[in-house]
Amino acid sequence: MSKGVFLYTGNFLKYDLGPQHPLKPTRLARTHELLSSYNAFDQVEVRQPNPCPLPDLQLAHSAEYIETVDRLSAGEHVPFPFRYGFGYGDNPVFPDMWDASLLYTGASLDAAQAVLDGAAVAMNISGGLHHAHWDRAAGFCVFNDCVVAIHQLRRRFERVAYIDIDVHHGDGVQEAFYDDPHVLTVSIHESGQTLFPGTGYVREEGIGAGTGYSVNVPLWPYTDDEIWYWAWREAAWPIVEAYRPEVVCLECGTDPHYLDPLARLCLTAQGWVRAVEDVMRLGVPVLALGGGGYNPTTVPRMWALAFGTLFGVEMSNDTPASFPYHDRIPTLRDDENPPIAPHDLVQAKNHARQTVSEIKERLFVHHGL
Ligand SMILES: [Zn+2]
Repeated sequence: MSKGVFLYTGNFLKYDLGPQHPLKPTRLARTHELLSSYNAFDQVEVRQPNPCPLPDLQLAHSAEYIETVDRLSAGEHVPFPFRYGFGYGDNPVFPDMWDASLLYTGASLDAAQAVLDGAAVAMNISGGLHHAHWDRAAGFCVFNDCVVAIHQLRRRFERVAYIDIDVHHGDGVQEAFYDDPHVLTVSIHESGQTLFPGTGYVREEGIGAGTGYSVNVPLWPYTDDEIWYWAWREAAWPIVEAYRPEVVCLECGTDPHYLDPLARLCLTAQGWVRAVEDVMRLGVPVLALGGGGYNPTTVPRMWALAFGTLFGVEMSNDTPASFPYHDRIPTLRDDENPPIAPHDLVQAKNHARQTVSEIKERLFVHHGL
C-alpha cells in the first residue's frame, strides 16, 4: 500500500537559472536517483505534476506580475524588469521560465490536492520557493508555490501550520498570510541581520486578526545542532502544538547545513531532520516541499533523510553502491560535527537565548502559553 505521494518529472530540470547560478536543478535529479537506488519508490506513489492553472496562481500573485513573467519568458521587452525583481543576479530571466515556474507551482498544488484526497504525506522537492512576493520575484523564486498550495489546503482545513526550516526567512509566505489566523507561519532561520532577505525578526508577529500567528526564530551564524534544536523546542514547538494544526505545510530547505555555501548556520543532516521527526509526531497530514540547498553533496542526502522520516521508509545510512554518486555521497548522515570556534558558539548561544525569551514574552500569550 502506498505511504503517500511524491511529485516528480524530468522537466523539473528546466528551472535552470544558468551555469553560474547557485541554484542547480541537478540537485533534484540527484535526489531522485538516490531515492531510486534505495528502491524508496516501491512504497510511495510517484506522480507526474501538472502546470499550475491560472486561477490558483492568481491567489498568490497579481495579474500584472503573472503577465510580466509570461512576457519576459517569451523574450518580449518589458520596461524596468527590476521593478518585478528580474535582472542580473538572483533572478535572471531564463529560457522556459514560464513553463518551468508553472510546473514547480503545479507540483505543489498537486501535492496539496493529494493531501485533500487523503494522502497522509505528499512531497514536492521542486517546491518551497518561499521568497516570491505578490508582484515580485526574489531569492531565485518566481512563483510562490507554498502560498498557492496553502490556499488549496485551506479549502478543507481551518488551521494550517506552515513550518519553514530553510536557513532563510520564509518572507513571501509570512507576507501572504500576515493577517490570517487560519495560517500559522513559523520560520527558524539565520538572522536577517546577517542574511538575505533581511527580515524574520521576532517582532514580525502578524497584524489584525493574524497577530501572534507569525512566528520567527532568528539565530546567529555558527548556531549548531544543539542550539538550533533547543530554540526550536523552546520557542517554536510549544506554539505549533498549542495551535493544534489540522495539516502542516513543511518547507524543507537544506541550507542550514554547515557545508552550505550561502549561509552560516552549522547544522548536520541528522540535527536538521529532528524537526521533520517532530512534525511527523503531530499525527496530521503533511505537505512537504523542498527549498534552498546549494551544496550538491548535502542536498540529496538531506532530502533522502527527510523522505525516510516523512514516509516511514527505512534507509541504511550507507548509500547504495548502485547510486551513481555513492563515492561523493557515501552516507546520509554526517560523520562528525563541524568545528566551531568557542567565541562563535558563545555568541550563537546568547543570541538564541535572547530570541527565545523574546518569543516567550511577545507571542506565547496569543496561544494561551
Ligand atoms: Zn534558503
